[in-house]
Amino acid sequence: MSQNPPAERLAKRLEGVSESATLKLNATVQAMKAQGLPVVNLTAGEPDFAVPAEGKRAAIAAIEADKSKYTPASGIAELRERIAARTNGQQPAVSPPWKASDVIVTNGGKQAIFNALMALVDPGDEVLIPAPYWLSYPEMAKLCGGVPRILPTRFEDGFKLKPTDLEAALTERSRILFVNSPSNPTGAMYSQAELKALGDVLLKHPRGGRVWVISDEIYDLITFGEPPFCSFLQAAPALRSRTVTVNGMSKSAAMTGWRVGWSVAPANVTAAMSTLQGQSTSGINSVAQWASVAALDLPPGSFTQQVDSYRRRRDLVLEILARDPTIKVVAPQGAFYIFAGVEAHFHDGEDSIAFAQRLLEQAQVAVVPGTPFGAPGFLRLSFATEEGALREGCRRLVEYLATGARRE
Ligand code: PLP
Repeated sequence: MSQNPPAERLAKRLEGVSESATLKLNATVQAMKAQGLPVVNLTAGEPDFAVPAEGKRAAIAAIEADKSKYTPASGIAELRERIAARTNGQQPAVSPPWKASDVIVTNGGKQAIFNALMALVDPGDEVLIPAPYWLSYPEMAKLCGGVPRILPTRFEDGFKLKPTDLEAALTERSRILFVNSPSNPTGAMYSQAELKALGDVLLKHPRGGRVWVISDEIYDLITFGEPPFCSFLQAAPALRSRTVTVNGMSKSAAMTGWRVGWSVAPANVTAAMSTLQGQSTSGINSVAQWASVAALDLPPGSFTQQVDSYRRRRDLVLEILARDPTIKVVAPQGAFYIFAGVEAHFHDGEDSIAFAQRLLEQAQVAVVPGTPFGAPGFLRLSFATEEGALREGCRRLVEYLATGARRE
């Protein structure tokens, strides 16, 4: 008898990797909309603004100029130069400064994270992920053979990882620490001093020496004042040789569908990630790269109006949710999400996925449950939504919680 597995069995690396937990919810939203029901959708993970006109024009010009051939796997030089300059602007303490050759343009920030994990994680290596986390981190870590180690943070600490908790979590298998400031889903931001304190742990702790940081800074331009945005390496420049900074155009320039992200990393890891990308996806769409060059040439302050609009919407949501003191909320300092704790309203045996389904069916408000973000008592409300819908959705949520959703 052959020992070969049956043809239909999938590769082991996919075992235990979750599909999106929000698929069922989205299917219900679509079915309800098809029936003409007035669903308010607060699930958006992307800006509701248009791509800057300069970016659109540059894309059209690139098509007409036949800039349509394969690009270098790591991206066109013009774009990599601008990304290096942008990163150096946020990390003036880093020495030597980054060069275009330290940058890889990727298919969204997502691919940059995946490349970094593929390049750095060996089977059994631990990937330290402060919770609540962006839901792809643990799944990507597993796909790359790593072991996600979830580090819970506290609501009372503003959902930020404490240096003492990082110290306690380090083992000889620790390999990656994820930092995501501003955070999806909580909107929490680390100050420069807080980032430095985390960096110091990795520099001084006996088991910190083989740990790399993946600093996901995709929401860097969407911040509301305090603390100001601080790039991880600006706070911990001594970790230059062990940090991959990830960013992209999706959130800052409302270009989610164009799929432009990047990594900035030391030469040895950039070389490995470039080989990986060259043998898998190659360089990203050439037209999107030229559009990104134009968008990165926009003067600073070009997105101030958008940020002001996010701030107004954030304040609106906070004001409406404050009407119900049972809802636990930390005011977000960046990104465009409010993470609301509503566990007091769960029925027995319910978690946020079941609650979100019930909220959708009964109050016709769609939100993302906190469970796949590692926070089962919470809901994520996006305020990348126009004010009328936002006001109505939050009003319905508060009303629903007040009338009947409470635990018996
Ligand atoms: N990181 C975080 C925290 C995100 O929220 C997202 C998108 O939702 C990404 C990375 C990836 O974005 P993209 O691949 O569109 O650049």
